[in-house]
Amino acid sequence: MNILIINCGSSSLKYQLINMDNEEVLAKGLVERIGIEGSQVKHTTTGKEEVIIKETMNDHRKALELVLNALIDSNYGAISSMDEINAVGHRVVHGGERFASSVVIDDEVMEALHDCIDLAPLHNPPNIMGIEACKELMPNTPMVGVFDTAFHQTIPMANYIYPLPYELYEKYGIRKYGFHGTSHKYVAIRAAEILDKDIRDLNIISCHLGNGASVCAIQGGKSVETSMGFTPLEGLAMGTRSGDLDPAIIPFIMEKENLTFDEANELFNKKSGVLGISGISSDFRDLEEAAEAGNKRAQLALDVFANRVRKYIGAYTAVMCDVDALIFTAGIGENSVYIREKICEGLECIGIMLDKERNKVRGKESIISRSIISTAILVIPTNEELMIARDTLELVSK
Ligand code: AMP
Repeated sequence: MNILIINCGSSSLKYQLINMDNEEVLAKGLVERIGIEGSQVKHTTTGKEEVIIKETMNDHRKALELVLNALIDSNYGAISSMDEINAVGHRVVHGGERFASSVVIDDEVMEALHDCIDLAPLHNPPNIMGIEACKELMPNTPMVGVFDTAFHQTIPMANYIYPLPYELYEKYGIRKYGFHGTSHKYVAIRAAEILDKDIRDLNIISCHLGNGASVCAIQGGKSVETSMGFTPLEGLAMGTRSGDLDPAIIPFIMEKENLTFDEANELFNKKSGVLGISGISSDFRDLEEAAEAGNKRAQLALDVFANRVRKYIGAYTAVMCDVDALIFTAGIGENSVYIREKICEGLECIGIMLDKERNKVRGKESIISRSIISTAILVIPTNEELMIARDTLELVSK
């Protein structure tokens, strides 16, 4: 069975076609600048050269049409007809409290997705556009929605309620939702497989450290705490997002700098984090290079980032009492030897003992702790697409 995975952003569309008989990727690609001048599809069928298709794409429907054409192209395609796509799995950012697991998309689900727009005004509308385009172009193919928030629906109420007037939760659904759920779930399952243990017996801390970053406490395979909140702005310092702040800072800056609501939103989401501190870049490769060359603010940004991750690891150790596995994943977690070492510095007191030699790995599954007797430390490349494909397969096979 072949499953197409679609991940739509406001002007982008990422896709993968996976053969679920052996979980092999048949083709993948990225559409950029949808609705903007210079739109293009970068498509690669496994074993063939990458092709770039430049064509005007005014909307996601047109983008998807070009993707489907690329997939069945006789020269650079992966399949011979659209009938060979048996199901589609869509990444959806926010499922609110309505979706605690993946679902087959029907009219009722579409309605519920529209109801969630208020909670994720930037992310959910493009996800919905992607689903609607697919429904138009492939009306008879079953579709499944997989939510970034679903994995965190097991978080206990005492961990997800903010200390605000309770009516605000009841009226507007203001609570912690958490994100990166598909990634945290995937790496937790892989960690249990690698350690040859039943996930129900494990306490895991998963650190998804990419441009967006979050930490998750996973007890017996279920999320019990996570650092992102009502939106993906809470928690760690990120590439361009502030993470946790004294909330009083927000109105203070707005008043002093005479900022509108949109300008403030932009400041905390796009101009803060390690970019804001360093003034150089949100990319950790640039920051590590600059810090090594003596740039003090780049070093400060790296220190702030690592300190926050370390603080959350300490907090989540307290949440679960003892930790069997600490996982690093996503761009920084998988690749930055320096940041992993910096995060683990001083954590020996809670049984987290990094092996500096084993830590010298990038982008491949590895155990990097001195032993696995106290806490196993693992690097596990995330694979959200495969997780979405597995959920889609399970639901459409029922
Ligand atoms: P992601 O959002 O998971 O794609 O992660 C993207 C981030 O990973 C980039 O912004 C970089 O900061 C970071 N990254 C990728 N490769 C490396 C590397 N070799 N060393 C340090 N950071 C890296």
